Amino acid sequence: MSFDELGLSDKVLQAVGAAGYSQPTPIQTQAIPHVLARRDVLGIAQTGTGKTAAFTLPMLTMLETGRARARMPRTLILEPTRELAAQVEENFVRYGVNHKLSVALLIGGVSFGDQDVKITRGVDVLIATPGRLLDHFERGKLLLTGVELLVIDEADRMLDMGFIPDIERIVKLTPFTRQTLFFSATMPPEIQRLSEKFLSNPVKVEVARPASAAQTITQRLVSTGSDPAAKRETLRGLIRDAVDLQNAIIFCNRKRDVAVLHRSLQRHKFNAVALHGDMDQRARMLALESFRTGEATILVASDVAARGLDIPMVSHVFNYDVPHHAEDYVHRIGRTGRAGRSGAAFTLVAPGDERSLSAIEKLIGNAVVWSGPTTAEAGHAPARPSRERGPRRGGGRGEAEEAPSRSRRGGRRESAGEARAAEPQAVRAPAPEREPAEPRREPKREPQREPQREPRREPRREPQRDAERTARPARGRARREEEQLDTPSFGDHIPAFLLRPVVIKSKK
Ligand code: AMP
Repeated sequence: MSFDELGLSDKVLQAVGAAGYSQPTPIQTQAIPHVLARRDVLGIAQTGTGKTAAFTLPMLTMLETGRARARMPRTLILEPTRELAAQVEENFVRYGVNHKLSVALLIGGVSFGDQDVKITRGVDVLIATPGRLLDHFERGKLLLTGVELLVIDEADRMLDMGFIPDIERIVKLTPFTRQTLFFSATMPPEIQRLSEKFLSNPVKVEVARPASAAQTITQRLVSTGSDPAAKRETLRGLIRDAVDLQNAIIFCNRKRDVAVLHRSLQRHKFNAVALHGDMDQRARMLALESFRTGEATILVASDVAARGLDIPMVSHVFNYDVPHHAEDYVHRIGRTGRAGRSGAAFTLVAPGDERSLSAIEKLIGNAVVWSGPTTAEAGHAPARPSRERGPRRGGGRGEAEEAPSRSRRGGRRESAGEARAAEPQAVRAPAPEREPAEPRREPKREPQREPQREPRREPRREPQRDAERTARPARGRARREEEQLDTPSFGDHIPAFLLRPVVIKSKK
């Protein structure tokens, strides 16, 4: 099928032609005619499938009639992270070259002022992260009663990040008569429930992640000691020995490790930038831009910050840590080997990572090949408690002791030379039915919302909001965990100064 047959306007078709797309992707073929027919759509698709254009192209066509009113956006797109929101905005710029539409981006980390001015003038498309959108709403600067079309993108990611109560609240602020497009890579029960609640008689469109991309990725495991210094040394060796390394993303499980590793790589003269949730928005955008343009060759990132980003040509992915959630492994390595190009993904495996590793191998349906000795064969000492390591979530060290080691399960091995010569190994993307039966209620790593917020100067919290906050155990837990990560503990030892008697002088 060609783009001409989907019902898109001439202006949009011209922009698509200018973008160089010859054919719509499966999600575009399936979704666009329904969006144009004003149907609600439930799209099960990951990034990389062309899903952004599946909603931006018909939206542009529909927005050619009508005009925006002050403070009342006509359409609203919710994204879990600032980077994804910015990426969607770029899509509107690219495909909307022939339109005179007003697009506003409401994301944290940038000043309210410019955003206020835009909203007050009236916008056709509002792209927002949930926290910042509610902040504007509570400041009385925004009305959502004029929203004709609502897009909830990356819904499963919103769930991971504890945004669902915000999303539910935002949806209540939009008119009942709106058209809703709901996209999620997976459909755990909680997301299923939300889709039923938000969508009215939806058309369901589902596409698998393109298998060709994953089949071009060579995956290898590399054993390493648990000590951070040892891990960094192993990683540096891998980067130096990597064949045809054009650029690389290095994933860490914790954002604090992203910062530490980034500094260390810079000290060792690697051209590296970092991306994690504690950085301010400008620094995040600059880092991403310099990686995209090739100015920086290495991007050290956390999962949340890097999820869903469209960086087309990445030759290598290094997992500095084995991800605790198996799906994250598939997302991470999917950053390379895109659009039929070849790519390589190396994962550092330390003693204690066995359980996370076997979960990954179960998910992808095959054992990943070792480059060099397995962790058990290498005889690396188990990790010592260190100030540099935060508490592990899920798959902790104690649990790992119970897990069978790779070598006992007879994992395949190869030498470093063989690894280079090896054929790419196929990996299957997580099919929806492979998802865990229960939704992941623990929000992972970086709850985006808190760092996005600016200091509140106005008494803004209504009782309803406070009640809502107390009804968010997931987010509260995430925040506590984040706090714990950065709070040094004394363990059983009580420092002497805490035992000294304290004399309190009375004020007489
Ligand atoms: P997305 O899944 O929206 O993140 O899109 C992934 C990438 O596919 C982006 O770089 C898009 O520019 C690109 N893309 C979207 N639609 C098409 C198409 N019909 N043909 C080729 N590339 C496309």
